[in-house]
Amino acid sequence: MHQPDVVVIGAGISGLAVCEVLHRGGLAVTVLEARTRVGGRLLSSPLDLGASWFWDGERRVRAMTDRFEIATFPQYRAGDAMIDERDGVHRYPGNPIDGQAHRFVNGAAALTNALAGELPQGVVLLDQPVIEVTDELVVLTATSRWQPQHVVIAVPPAVAVAAIRLPEALPGNLVDIAQRTPVWMSDTVKVVVTYDEPFWRSDGLAGSAISRAGPLHEIHDLCGPDGSPSALFGFARAGQPSGLTESEICAQLGRIFGPRAHAPRELQIQDWSSEQWTNPAMAAPESAQSSPGFALLGHAVYQQPQLGGRFHWSATETAPNYAGHIEGALEAAERTVNSILDFPR
Ligand SMILES: Cc1cc2nc3c(=O)[nH]c(=O)nc-3n(C[C@H](O)[C@H](O)[C@H](O)COP(=O)(O)OP(=O)(O)OC[C@H]3O[C@@H](n4cnc5c(N)ncnc54)[C@H](O)[C@@H]3O)c2cc1C
Repeated sequence: MHQPDVVVIGAGISGLAVCEVLHRGGLAVTVLEARTRVGGRLLSSPLDLGASWFWDGERRVRAMTDRFEIATFPQYRAGDAMIDERDGVHRYPGNPIDGQAHRFVNGAAALTNALAGELPQGVVLLDQPVIEVTDELVVLTATSRWQPQHVVIAVPPAVAVAAIRLPEALPGNLVDIAQRTPVWMSDTVKVVVTYDEPFWRSDGLAGSAISRAGPLHEIHDLCGPDGSPSALFGFARAGQPSGLTESEICAQLGRIFGPRAHAPRELQIQDWSSEQWTNPAMAAPESAQSSPGFALLGHAVYQQPQLGGRFHWSATETAPNYAGHIEGALEAAERTVNSILDFPR
């Protein structure tokens, strides 16, 4: 039985941020991660297949880019937007689709890579799905047992309820609320297409589009800071009756941005809804919610630790502010760190 001060479940940005601060503060921390990589919903390959933006006012993200010297640049938005309707494609002067957002030069996963890089080897254990946390706060994977002072669930609450047998001593309403708290973007497919050059820019287009003629319902420029690599990305909803085919996607891009868009050099489809460590319905199909309760994001039940102050929730879905964003994941991490450091030792 291993006995660190803290076991963090989940090596997304929230869990890694908790771990990094506590490790710096001298606590013995272990992170157990189900996937074979860190980052969770931050995945850059090398373009972003998960999150890509942060916004003005998200001070924790900005503080992290400053601290780790992670280069950022503004989202490209010069030019006109396109509206793809069933009655045809319309050019919309100016670009009302893209707000002023910022991107990470080396992808959003630069954040989690930087945090993981601060931790000594052996602190983050990959391929270690947690299957149970007992009433005594013993944490179990298929191959290991841990008995820490504190357990941090840095997993979206609905995924935690679906995939982990949680302590029976937790209040019933908490488990119910966790099960009904939606997981941000877990029903989303992100499609990234790369080209030899950003030809839409020379056509006076921003690369942004809104579509009701599908399959991509929203499209944006995803080029690097100087236009290279040249890329667009689009969001599609998972589980569309006709499925999501490359030929449909290329046809739609060609319709909106012209023939050159029809033949991308590379097309990547990242279906987050099929990821068992992001979408609770993959772990427990009966847990799928028909009406997502967005009001439950950042619910009061997540703000106080349970089980004598030793059981903590830390994922973006538990943050009262910026829930769903990277900033929310960092806000939740900050609250968790404060609760653990305030705990009488
Ligand atoms: C397509 C897409 C686009 C997005 N765009 C943006 C954006 O532009 N800007 C923005 O701010 N946010 C965006 N987001 C949201 C952003 O990615 C998340 O807010 C953030 O990454 C959440 O971090 P987290 O640590 O809270 O959770 P996660 O990243 O989900 O981390 C949870 C971790 O727990 C692990 N895990 C799950 N179950 C277990 C288990 N049983 N045992 C051990 N480990 C487990 C998972 O593998 C994962 O690594 C987007 C998300 C997606 C999917």
